[in-house]
Amino acid sequence: MKRDRIRITIRGAVQGVGFRPFIYHLATELSLGGWIVNCAQGVLIEAEGLPEVLEHFCLRLQKEKPAHAIIQSLASTNLPPIDEKHFEIRESDQGGGKTALILPDLATCAECVSEVLDPTDRRYRYPFNNCTHCGPRFSIIEALPYDRVHTSMKKFTMCTDCEREYRDPANRRFHAEPIACPRCGPRLQLWDSLGKTLAADDAALHRAAGQIRAGKILALKGLGGFQLLVDARAHGAIARLRARKHRAEKPFGVMFPSLEALRSQCRVDDLEERLLLSSESPIVLMQKLASPVPLLDGAVAPNNPNLGVMLPYTPLHHLLLRDLGFPVVATSGNLSDEPICIDESEALERLGGIADFYLIHDRPIVRHVDDSIVRVVHGREMILRRARGFAPLPIALRQAQPNVLALGAHLKSTVALSVKRNIFVSQHIGDLSTQPAYDAFARAVADLPALYDVKPDLVAHDLHPEYLSTRFAVQLAAPKVAVQHHWAHVAACMAENDLEPPLLGVAWDGTGYGYDGTIWGGEFFLVKEACWQRFAHFRTFLLPGGDAAVKEPRRSALGLLYEIFGEELWDQPELLTAFSASEQKTLRRMLTKRINAPITSSAGRLFDGVAALAGLRDRSSFEGQAAMELEFAIDPMVEESYPFSLGEDVPCLIDWAPALRALLVDRRNQLPVGRIAARFHHMLGDAIVAVARRAGEKQVALSGGCFQNRYLTERVIDQLRANEFQPYWHQRIPPNDGGIAPGQIYLAEKIHARTLTNAL
Ligand code: ZN
Ligand code: ZN
Ligand code: FE
Repeated sequence: MKRDRIRITIRGAVQGVGFRPFIYHLATELSLGGWIVNCAQGVLIEAEGLPEVLEHFCLRLQKEKPAHAIIQSLASTNLPPIDEKHFEIRESDQGGGKTALILPDLATCAECVSEVLDPTDRRYRYPFNNCTHCGPRFSIIEALPYDRVHTSMKKFTMCTDCEREYRDPANRRFHAEPIACPRCGPRLQLWDSLGKTLAADDAALHRAAGQIRAGKILALKGLGGFQLLVDARAHGAIARLRARKHRAEKPFGVMFPSLEALRSQCRVDDLEERLLLSSESPIVLMQKLASPVPLLDGAVAPNNPNLGVMLPYTPLHHLLLRDLGFPVVATSGNLSDEPICIDESEALERLGGIADFYLIHDRPIVRHVDDSIVRVVHGREMILRRARGFAPLPIALRQAQPNVLALGAHLKSTVALSVKRNIFVSQHIGDLSTQPAYDAFARAVADLPALYDVKPDLVAHDLHPEYLSTRFAVQLAAPKVAVQHHWAHVAACMAENDLEPPLLGVAWDGTGYGYDGTIWGGEFFLVKEACWQRFAHFRTFLLPGGDAAVKEPRRSALGLLYEIFGEELWDQPELLTAFSASEQKTLRRMLTKRINAPITSSAGRLFDGVAALAGLRDRSSFEGQAAMELEFAIDPMVEESYPFSLGEDVPCLIDWAPALRALLVDRRNQLPVGRIAARFHHMLGDAIVAVARRAGEKQVALSGGCFQNRYLTERVIDQLRANEFQPYWHQRIPPNDGGIAPGQIYLAEKIHARTLTNAL
């Protein structure tokens, strides 16, 4: 029987409440091996047994935990089993965690919700209710230690009732730093689009609900920044929001008033339910029901079988959604790709052309924290955007290392700081090419070392000389080290799964600067202790127009075709129908003369090109759209795969040309796109297995934005396992470029000290 081993880190009130004996009894009852230990952050558990029993263990430990234990977060990673049969309670671990941990913002707890709904409670309908178990943390902290005077709550003087609760060790609000009540805490106001106050307190809340009901766009100052809310049933309102936000088709997240309401639209499995109700309370990407009760307007997530959903996570959201009784679109308060607004006067300016009304409050937000996004992949959660609820909880390394500040990549930017064994990853920042995002990036770079009072020994940055993050790094004082983009992807996967070399690292994404100056993105590395080798990659092709190809999958398609047919391509008009005569002329010149046509091995662009050739779309309105549609198109009944070939010499070339030729035949024969999409995905899975066989390493780490594709990831995992490999993938760190910064940290010291080299 195959056994798994998991490490669970639980943070929250889990010490001194009988938590360790409880876990011991539960594990013993389930015949699991392993141990539990109290640590500076909470408890650490390692448990080993049959996979389904471990799953059961995780569910039960949350359901049956001692009455006073509060689980604020539960993070689990997989480890290689060591055949431990017995379970024990270990002595407390005092080392390795003296760093004061800043908790993330936590969703409102059940007790706080019931208070705001209780007409006899003094906090009835108070939108800023919180306690030691819930409420704002990271978004209000200005400095450590975490005392009220170091938070943005310092401007509110506690009333005598709050003061009494705050001082009483038996009270749920004992030292709840953001403690507040209607008499002494933050208050609401409703503003019109010019910033004129229309109403205050509960009246503001009622009138805001009325405006949403009337189809207006409400900018709501929430926990970590502004959100834009509209009635998710109202086509006109959603269409206006899309037009004003310049967001044509990218799906919107939806907040439902309750889990029951959500069940009328989506299939919710146990893990998804747990995520939705967790204190992280992220947006969960879920599958829409095949025939849902008619409710949501189609423009919420057009042509998309998935829906990003969440439940209310602050008292303000609970009250508003209860008043409304229907789901609302809840999207970031920003223009596309910018970070969300946190300040009301800034919001009036930046959201001026978007929002009709502003529901604001006077508790300052110290730093922006977006809603996190999570999806379930192969029975585990995968964080796609890591912000509220998760940031800035650290990822633990096996060994202490120098303090490294890592500046990440360019898109989906995050920065990270390591302090001894902990890697603290910033909240999601966004695409650095906008000025507000660049400013937010600069703030985060200054913020992390200041918060943890650390002077970085090393600054890590991407190898790309033109990235703004690289240029920023150059001006910093500490010694610098460049980390190749796809190395960082693989390293992030190693860090969170606690993997040791040797292994095969697979990094598939859109773009990353390679050691040879070309654009990489379909990479395999043979990872050894002292050197990494580019072991295999996709056959390269030219990308006419460079970055312009990201928005136009047809350009990737043309690059692929040119690689296959060369100059003969121009004599095959049936392959060029996506372009006008003048476009053909321009692109032909680009390709033939190699002007503005960089060489790439990008898997992301291969996806785009295949999506275009399959007839799905020639242009994208957001990054990854074509690739997503190719995933959604898959006919699950199809089993066949397209052919490919694998070269002999290292780096082994994965030649996709046979696949594309077969695809063109399928298109000529007018085969359904579902079949083409399935065959292409299967070919990719086969390619990974073929390279893994050639490399001969048991452990295979999968990283990069392409592994946000659920079908691909699950299939690859199954195929690798069926062939006796051990696949590892991302859960707590995003597989996309949000994971680059922690990956840079993982490698920085080794590259700097030259104990790790690049084998060519
Ligand atoms: Zn609470
Ligand atoms: Zn008070
Ligand atoms: Fe990447």
